[in-house]
Amino acid sequence: MSTPTYDGRAFINGERVAAKDGQSFDNRSPVDGRSLGPVARCGQADIDAAVLAARQAFEDRRWSGTAPAHRKRVMIRFAQALLDHADELALTETWDMGKPLKYARAVDVNSAANCIRWYGEAVDKVYDEIAPTPSNALALITREPVGVVGVIVPWNYPLIMAAWKIAPALAAGNSVVLKPSEKSPLTALRLAELALSAGVPPGVFNVVPGYGVEAGSPLALHMDVDCIAFTGSTRVGKQIHVMAGQSNLKRAWTELGGKSPNIVFADCPDLDRAVQAAVGSIFFNQGESCNAPSRLFVEASIKDAFMERALALVPNYQPANPLEASTVMGAIVDRVQLDNVMRYIGLGESEGARLVAGGQRVEPVLGGCYVQPTVFDGVTSAMTIAREEIFGPVLSVLSFTDAAEVVRQANASEYGLQAGVWTRDLNKAHGVARALRAGTVHVNQYDEDDITVPFGGFKQSGVGRDKSLHAFDKYTETKTTWIRIDSPV
Ligand code: NAD
Repeated sequence: MSTPTYDGRAFINGERVAAKDGQSFDNRSPVDGRSLGPVARCGQADIDAAVLAARQAFEDRRWSGTAPAHRKRVMIRFAQALLDHADELALTETWDMGKPLKYARAVDVNSAANCIRWYGEAVDKVYDEIAPTPSNALALITREPVGVVGVIVPWNYPLIMAAWKIAPALAAGNSVVLKPSEKSPLTALRLAELALSAGVPPGVFNVVPGYGVEAGSPLALHMDVDCIAFTGSTRVGKQIHVMAGQSNLKRAWTELGGKSPNIVFADCPDLDRAVQAAVGSIFFNQGESCNAPSRLFVEASIKDAFMERALALVPNYQPANPLEASTVMGAIVDRVQLDNVMRYIGLGESEGARLVAGGQRVEPVLGGCYVQPTVFDGVTSAMTIAREEIFGPVLSVLSFTDAAEVVRQANASEYGLQAGVWTRDLNKAHGVARALRAGTVHVNQYDEDDITVPFGGFKQSGVGRDKSLHAFDKYTETKTTWIRIDSPV
């Protein structure tokens, strides 16, 4: 395989630029450890330049002042540009973060393009309001773009996480400064070039790669950023809210971690489907999904039958070269995350859980970061692997006998992102779904997803929602304009 070359320079005011102090970092691929080239190591001065470009673009109304129908046309062209470059973007995503190429192409690129098109199509169809006031006054309730939006995203779905935020923010007329993860910066940089080619004016969409503390913090602390939209860990998310408060009280929205419970009752209508969903969802994207159902609760009376079928499926998820068409599990994003996953596997064993599948680091491609699909049985809610987000292909299996007790355990988590319930009893399904403290509850499936529905969490899984028309709430201010009416009639 020849080494692909990538331009890792920042994208500010419509141009590729090196970091102002000339610093860069080496971007290594988790596929086989090869260098993908230098990436600009942006810092305060680069963030200042990007925010200034975004501010100027916002103030002179080159985008914010355009008609929604114009922004719609540009966003649709932008979405099409992603599809026109789908193979290139998918390959970049795979080299950069290790996911299987076939999913990068079929899921990540398509989903990001669909998101951008959807918000473009939506923006000239949302109306403002007129309040039911007395007849001597008119009160207009209008939405205005919030201004300069800072976006910070993680590495697990680089294109999709960026699209969920930049699409509604841009469609609403804002200017954006995006900081991708230092572990997967490449597709975000291409995204900005494609936006420009589609007609998003220079300065409206800027991308500043770099490390969290060096590039992310200056963005979150910036006095001229009006809103910060963050996806990442709960630990950093908490700092984002502090930084927003410490600076200019910018609006702060956070999509954070998860430890989602998936509850299978003995009256599950389709055990094979439940097994496939439980196994497939935890191993998809190498387990690096915030909403992965990492805590599996199975009712004791069907536990043995369930586990027998589940363990039979696990070998299908052996990691392999992500560039090969048959691969369903690729590489862990980097050595640090690989070590993290291995540390949790060690904790599972030392705290008394039973390792029933996987547990080993493997190297299907020399120099890459791979771990076997791993299952622990006999887990209790007190164990670390049942409490903390691992963000790797590790399933913790618990059993239960009582519905009230399993709901209590499912809710006994600092997180509240998603949950699953499997039962043929309508009352139980509705009752448990209501009782679960989670932003999304799946009943008798775990993989439904659509841009039309909100995505986000209760509790420490974050503040605010991505996707759906609700996302416009994050990137717009609500204004009331009172007009006196001295009617002559
Ligand atoms: P992370 O919090 O370490 O990093 C996320 C981003 O924040 C990166 O761009 C990073 O550079 C930046 N960052 C780090 N420290 C910072 C600081 N002090 N100031 C400003 N920015 C900083 O998370 P990660 O490891 O990249 O991603 C994994 C996490 O993301 C998991 O917890 C996962 O659950 C979460 N996630 C949540 C969702 C969701 O929608 N709820 C989606 C995907 C991932």
